[in-house]
Amino acid sequence: MRIELSEKIKNLQPSATLAMAALAGELKAQGEDIISLSLGEPDFPVPDFVKEAAIQAINENYHGYTPVDGYAALKEAIAYKFKRDNHLEYLPNQIVVSTGAKQCLSNIAWALINPGDEVIVPCPYWVSYADIVKLTGGVPVEVQTSIETHFKMTADQLEAAITPRTKMLWYSSPCNPSGSIYTEQELRALADVLQKHPQVVVVSDEIYEHINYTGNPHASMAAFPDMYDRVVTVNGVSKAFSMTGWRIGFMGAPEAIARACTKNQGQVTSGANCIAQRAVITALQTPVREIQYMVDEFSVRRTLILKLLGEIEGFKCAQPDGAFYVFPDISYYLGKTIKGTLIRNASDFSMFLLKEAKVATVTGAAFGNPNCIRLSYAASQDEIKEAVKRIKQVLQ
Ligand code: PMP
Ligand code: GLU
Repeated sequence: MRIELSEKIKNLQPSATLAMAALAGELKAQGEDIISLSLGEPDFPVPDFVKEAAIQAINENYHGYTPVDGYAALKEAIAYKFKRDNHLEYLPNQIVVSTGAKQCLSNIAWALINPGDEVIVPCPYWVSYADIVKLTGGVPVEVQTSIETHFKMTADQLEAAITPRTKMLWYSSPCNPSGSIYTEQELRALADVLQKHPQVVVVSDEIYEHINYTGNPHASMAAFPDMYDRVVTVNGVSKAFSMTGWRIGFMGAPEAIARACTKNQGQVTSGANCIAQRAVITALQTPVREIQYMVDEFSVRRTLILKLLGEIEGFKCAQPDGAFYVFPDISYYLGKTIKGTLIRNASDFSMFLLKEAKVATVTGAAFGNPNCIRLSYAASQDEIKEAVKRIKQVLQ
């Protein structure tokens, strides 16, 4: 029998980050000595206070379906977190807990996008944005930025990208993959443009909020009173608490959007995992200083990888302000033949590094920038040193 898949799924690209991580995993299983700098996944154990809360939840016999939008106690903890860290007031009916921030983003797209609606995604953007938008019938509108402007979209660029079909602006700050962080003034300038276009909803993905090396407080678009009614603030515990596999993300949103997301989720996955939800209550109630040790270590690794990559000819790096990625411009190598391989684009370069240096990275093309590659420094200092040494060797 010939199975005919849907047009939607045929047009959907696999997640490039997960695909590269899977390929690196397969090669390792075959005995190859691969160092993976592909996946954005902290390599720390889950903090003990979170583990203990999960164990307690199991012992207290939490086992059933939860409310679709999350336990009331968790939504209270999320409201507390939004207020404590972001000066944002959200009522429980404005909060939705989902199976990772990724599901929050998917819920938002299903809730808001009609066929042909345009969604502005400043490049580079996180891999899944464009594909979630396309899957739900929308049209991603890429706004190119460059290393010279620290990969940030300006107010003028935003203004130029808006059309009568623009439904949303969608970005992450700190940004995956560039590590750029929009300052409060920069966000204000974008908000001023949006004041002239009241139909545009903003999705502000703040999942890397705590992984910030600038010393400046994190700025949220929803904290501007004139934007609050049309910003969806997405966050989660995957990155800051090293809980990627526990799959809890959450949003604070205008009530109508939160309810629409809950309706969608109720037909697709129901509430998120009950034990993980209980543990996240403790995570969010705990002072942020308790997870600072991970940020401090990422900061050391950031300095290390920037220094080492800076010693390789043709790697142009902007210093990332947050998250745990570097996004070097490697256009110097495009069109060159190295060890018999023609490097036509960043994807060729990334595959070349995998084959020759045994280092897994992700092509910038997946993030909307074909001149760069992404390296995750959520890896040990030894792995970073060895990986960059190998890259340097194969490029010499
Ligand atoms: N947003 C960004 C910018 C990310 O890098 C990730 C990475 N996983 C997510 C959302 C999704 O996070 P999760 O589903 O693990 O909460
Ligand atoms: N967000 C991480 C990354 O960009 C995890 C992988 C994913 O969910 O796509 O690598």
